[in-house]
Amino acid sequence: MEIKRIGVVGAGTMGNGIAQIAAQAGYFVVMRDTEMSFVEKGLKNIEMFLSKGVEKGKIDNSEKTTILKRIKGTTNMADLSETDFIVEAVYENLDLKKSVFMELDELSKTDVILATNTSSMSITEIGASTKRPDKVCGMHFFNPVPLMRLVEIIRGYKTSDETIKTTIELAQKIGKITVEVKKDSPGFIVNRIMIPHFLEAIKIVEEGIASIEDVDNAVKNGLNYPMGPFELMDLTGIDIAYFVSEYLYKELNKENKWVAPNLLKTMVRARKFGKKSGGGWYTK
Ligand code: NAD
Repeated sequence: MEIKRIGVVGAGTMGNGIAQIAAQAGYFVVMRDTEMSFVEKGLKNIEMFLSKGVEKGKIDNSEKTTILKRIKGTTNMADLSETDFIVEAVYENLDLKKSVFMELDELSKTDVILATNTSSMSITEIGASTKRPDKVCGMHFFNPVPLMRLVEIIRGYKTSDETIKTTIELAQKIGKITVEVKKDSPGFIVNRIMIPHFLEAIKIVEEGIASIEDVDNAVKNGLNYPMGPFELMDLTGIDIAYFVSEYLYKELNKENKWVAPNLLKTMVRARKFGKKSGGGWYTK
């Protein structure tokens, strides 16, 4: 099947970024969230990102208008039924993701691939909530989506070769570099490496060994990383760092290295219910 229309579930940080780059690559996009205010916020983010592109001379105004016209925002799940490939980017919660996949399975054409942008969770388990586990895979974008080049393509236990091939081709068509994660393993490649470095950084601060600023400075200037762990957590969301570490602890033999430090747990608990990703170490 030729992919012309892409469905995106969730208009948050990742969902609106995925919708934007798909539209920039010429695809028609249907972006769904639960409330119109969330959809509008997602569309506004895309508009702002593209306006910066116009200011910098990367695109002109008419290209910006054309890209925006390709994106339809909706709260109606049924609007996704006419799309040819669907990417899910709702909260990192397995039960929620499974219920979304059950709904997508019911409403979408039987040959449509359903991809999840989960940061860590089991593609196999998400796939098992559908009648098409061979057409379910992980498509893990990074934040901010329009700027980060990598997409991890993850194989669930029943994912077919064809699904992986089509998803890799699609990710490359929308301008990304892909890596294939051949086995469904928690945290895939990048988060399996990134989360321990976040947790160690927090422990160093918790133990009074160094300040947040100095840990970031040390990592940037000693390891030549573009961002320190605290800056990166503020960008990606401290809630995500916490939930992913809890998940990896549970799934990877309860090894101590995955235990979230108390400071992180407390900070996440102090956040207002339903508060979006972003903010944390530098911005209270
Ligand atoms: P977010 O909180 O910014 O957005 C999630 C959106 O999903 C919200 O707008 C919410 O209203 C919406 N939503 C919830 N239930 C829904 C439903 N049933 N239908 C449609 N929309 C629904 O979260 P995010 O940072 O965009 O993360 C989304 C996913 O991407 C998570 O699985 C996360 O782990 C993953 N991810 C996040 C990052 C990151 O840096 N933020 C990076 C890679 C992957």
